[in-house]
Amino acid sequence: MPDWQALIRDIPDFPKPGVVFKDITPLLADADGYAAAVDAMAAPWRGVALDAVLAVESRGFIVGAALARALGTGFVPVRKPGKLPARVHAQDYDLEYGSDRLEIHADALSPGARVLLVDDVLATGGTLRAALALARQQGAIVVGAAVLLEISALEGRARWEPDVALEATLAC
Ligand code: 5GP
Repeated sequence: MPDWQALIRDIPDFPKPGVVFKDITPLLADADGYAAAVDAMAAPWRGVALDAVLAVESRGFIVGAALARALGTGFVPVRKPGKLPARVHAQDYDLEYGSDRLEIHADALSPGARVLLVDDVLATGGTLRAALALARQQGAIVVGAAVLLEISALEGRARWEPDVALEATLAC
């Protein structure tokens, strides 16, 4: 198997001085690497009953949409404010680099829908926790969460709900 983990590169001082950004674009640009990454992300969830992948704008869409196809589920987008056309539910959250708000269509999930939360990177965990809150506001059952890369030093896992499975394909 190719070393597709090596296709994630460090970008120092992005988006601000002192931050080392994990850039996944070389991995996405590599046909075998992208396929292997999506396969590895999907592996823990194969055979699990799921109705939808719920993924966070914007890099979460890149892995989330592929994962939804790999797992045979629907896809529900969680977006930055003002992007979704119909009525929304909103959730404020803290970021590694400040604070922000996420939105989901108010009718995106039926009560009892079984969803998998997806993002590219788990850093402090604020984004994924906001997605969890949005899914639960609609009465969905959050079966688990999947990220491509967990930045362990930022301790997002320590702030995650222990009862909800969190699978990281890679950790650094
Ligand atoms: P958190 O909310 O866990 O602090 O940050 C995770 C979110 O910020 C994800 O949506 C992710 O796309 C973005 N993010 C934070 N740090 C990085 C990074 O180093 N690399 C990438 N690709 N995304 C990051």
